[in-house]
Amino acid sequence: MYYGFGFDWTFILVIIGAVIAGLAQMNVTATFNRYNKINSRNNVTAAQAAQAIMDDAGLNNVRVNHIQGDLTDNYNPSDKTLNLSDSSYESTSIAAIGVAAHEVGHAIQDQKGYWPMKLRSMFVPLVNLGSTAAFPIIILGVVLGMNYTLIHIGIYLFSLILIFQIITLPVEFNASMRAVNILTTGNILSQDELPAVKKVLFAAALTYVAAVLSTALQFLRLVLLFGNRRD
Ligand SMILES: [Zn+2]
Repeated sequence: MYYGFGFDWTFILVIIGAVIAGLAQMNVTATFNRYNKINSRNNVTAAQAAQAIMDDAGLNNVRVNHIQGDLTDNYNPSDKTLNLSDSSYESTSIAAIGVAAHEVGHAIQDQKGYWPMKLRSMFVPLVNLGSTAAFPIIILGVVLGMNYTLIHIGIYLFSLILIFQIITLPVEFNASMRAVNILTTGNILSQDELPAVKKVLFAAALTYVAAVLSTALQFLRLVLLFGNRRD
């Protein structure tokens, strides 16, 4: 029995994906909050830590900015800014320093021309196209009496989102690995403060894995609904 696009049994895959993504998000927030209460012994802020690590690495063309939001920290390769959010910029916690070091990890990837990061940047226009156009085109195909050419174009566009999220995984894991290495060899944190940093960064990395799973489930749903039909 076909109940129509949107309310058929395969919608459960979308719900499972949303639950996985939600749990990963709750986990990273809880882990960050736990270690955000513990101040680093050296009492430097995340912004100072980021600056010190970048000075050490010879990254003198990157600017550290304070941006709004919680855990919206990012490194922007197009204007070489390291953007630390309200939750980290002035914080002296182990968690905030871990997040800042992760973002510096991205700046170092950029400096070294780390190719998965370049590939990811090249993919941004494609993923934007996929996010905006995939569902409108699929829905249009359904509305126009199951036009499978349109529906399949929509599914291909949706797959761009999945490919992008998969390319993001090595970029994120590598940035965290660099962060842990820097903090292990540097003098910003003590050795016994590192396990907490690893937990925060691992929880953050899990959100990217969850995003892949969630998108893969949505993709599977589209294939189950429309994939075995010829144009
Ligand atoms: Zn990152």
